[in-house]
Amino acid sequence: MKVILLGAPGSGKGTQAAYITDKYDLPHISTGDLFRDNIKNQTPLGQKVKAIMDTGNLCPDDLTVAMVKERLKEKDCENGYLLDGFPRNLFQAGELDKIDAPDVVINIEVDLEKIEHRITGRRSCANCKNSFHVDFIGDREACPDCGGKLVIRKDDNAETVRERLAVYQAQTLPLEEYYSKQGKLVSVDGDKSIEEVFAQIVKVLG
Ligand code: AMP
Repeated sequence: MKVILLGAPGSGKGTQAAYITDKYDLPHISTGDLFRDNIKNQTPLGQKVKAIMDTGNLCPDDLTVAMVKERLKEKDCENGYLLDGFPRNLFQAGELDKIDAPDVVINIEVDLEKIEHRITGRRSCANCKNSFHVDFIGDREACPDCGGKLVIRKDDNAETVRERLAVYQAQTLPLEEYYSKQGKLVSVDGDKSIEEVFAQIVKVLG
């Protein structure tokens, strides 16, 4: 099964991805995580994208598509994938259709006015990469899942969030129509609890 998770930054794609990979045994491929790993490991790719990511803009399409292409060649993608954060624009969607088109696209819909609160309160685990909101975990510093260190992502600040939202609206929203025309788009209500959102996704994936 080849699945794409679509949704605004902070809509809960990463959180739902962790639940989905658990139940359906699909490799979770988050382009944001792949870029952050490259930055952490100071690779040439990481050095190229670091400044761009800090502003909330999209990394260049050629680098992004090449990175995903390589990742999809790995053995764990033989039976499908769960893409989170890719594609982010129509060009990337077209390229993915040429490489390995998705079966279903789950669109997590949230109230965009709540995004800033969702993102500025987000704490991400440096180890397992799961994220949590301070509304639920308070000021704890260790990941509730694996005990790793909880950090605030460099681009999870109010100013960058506004830029990321603008980029989402201009470049990523058109993907809804793109996949809807292909008959692959299914929208779920992301303004519910984590469990309720996941239940809607399970209904889609079966
Ligand atoms: P995310 O973790 O998905 O919120 O992504 C964080 C940042 O990584 C984005 O703001 C972009 O700078 C970069 N990024 C992630 N995925 C993509 C993509 N598919 N295309 C271009 N840039 C991306």
